[in-house]
Amino acid sequence: MQTAWKEYQKKNEDRFLDEMLELLRIPSVSAKTEHKEDMRRCAEAVRQRLLESGCDKAEVMETAGHPVVYGEKIIDQSKPTVLVYGHYDVQPAEPLNLWHSGPFEPVIKDGKVYARGSADDKGQFYMHVKALETMVKTESMETNIKFLIEGEEEVGSPNLADFVRQNKELLKADVILISDSAMISTENPSLDIGVRGLSYIEVEVTGPNRDLHSGTYGGAVANPITILCKMIASLHDENNHVTIPGFYDDVVEATKEERELMARAPFNEKEYKEELGINEVWGEKNYTTAERTGIRPTIEINGIWGGYTGEGAKTVLPSKATAKISARLVPNQDSRKITDMLLEHFKKIAPPFVTIHAFEHHGGEPYMTPIDSKGYQAAAKAIQTTFGKEPIPVRGGGSIPICSILEKELGVKIVFMGFGLDSDNLHSPNEKFNLENYYKGIETIPYFHKFFAQSE
Ligand SMILES: [Zn+2]
Repeated sequence: MQTAWKEYQKKNEDRFLDEMLELLRIPSVSAKTEHKEDMRRCAEAVRQRLLESGCDKAEVMETAGHPVVYGEKIIDQSKPTVLVYGHYDVQPAEPLNLWHSGPFEPVIKDGKVYARGSADDKGQFYMHVKALETMVKTESMETNIKFLIEGEEEVGSPNLADFVRQNKELLKADVILISDSAMISTENPSLDIGVRGLSYIEVEVTGPNRDLHSGTYGGAVANPITILCKMIASLHDENNHVTIPGFYDDVVEATKEERELMARAPFNEKEYKEELGINEVWGEKNYTTAERTGIRPTIEINGIWGGYTGEGAKTVLPSKATAKISARLVPNQDSRKITDMLLEHFKKIAPPFVTIHAFEHHGGEPYMTPIDSKGYQAAAKAIQTTFGKEPIPVRGGGSIPICSILEKELGVKIVFMGFGLDSDNLHSPNEKFNLENYYKGIETIPYFHKFFAQSE
């Protein structure tokens, strides 16, 4: 099959790219109500592409929020079924002034597509659509394929769990395949075997009932910004270990073997620092950078504001200060439990000079894929075939909250086959996706289906 697939893909590579660019031009920002119509337009475009690429059926299906796109190509009910999950929504593009070109006007430079959503996740889920087309047009399908492309991943998938519960029969499959993550590099391909969970809260600290003159009242009334900063600074000790009592209680410590396997993944600290423009790495003592972002839970401040932030000076003692705070979780931490722990902790450590309002944004559970599962094995073999190298199993630092729900409701394992790179600037200005990775993904995915069908 190899030559037929390759020939078909080579012949159609320009169109494969053009179609991806067209999706990137739709500003499908799920977080902003002003893009509600763009979301629907994008869902409709995805539906159209699924049909054109060989699906027998594709629909835009309603949820309480942005719609889900479902598509399927069923060749034989007795054959194994692969459910491809992806998302057509994207993160907001701000800050716009840091983009070298328009976030929704894709530009190709040095073999990379620059646009919001190029790697996360439009370019990546679209590889599966073009892999389907390749197999349909060369009459080489060996599995049934279903697509579940949602529109609320970037806002925490608030309506997908209900959708999955209501459509269990429709989504029935033998494995779930997701390309929404990164590999180490094309020279050192890797497969994620886990994603971290998430707890996300917001804390508002209120001092006086209005903004005050900092000369008249400063020194006599507690400043909410100072108080908030002190509370935040107290979250880590001198070893950068989280200080919240009980935070690590449920963490499953990685085994010596697992840590050794992780250490085999190539990591160049010098390049890492240069690429990020930092002088030193930072993190929990006694853990490597890969461990800090893979097997350890963390707490990060995602935003903080208060007082006067406009041009020039304004001497004010503000009434309020606010921070957005998130924790990344590892097996077997429970998102609900950690969220409650964070909320309680801030209420507990708040000094009497201020009042605290702490509330939850969203969360999700961590997820792990066993290396000995049929799905992982098929993915590893597919990578081996097209990259000529056995993939390194790694733990991803990010979160895909829907994973644990998908497994629970559909009763099947998830395989992460990400073709992006950590340097793709996900959620940042100048997000990009390397063309080499896009085409390599389209080339690799049909092998996954072939090997998975053979193993069933
Ligand atoms: Zn994503």
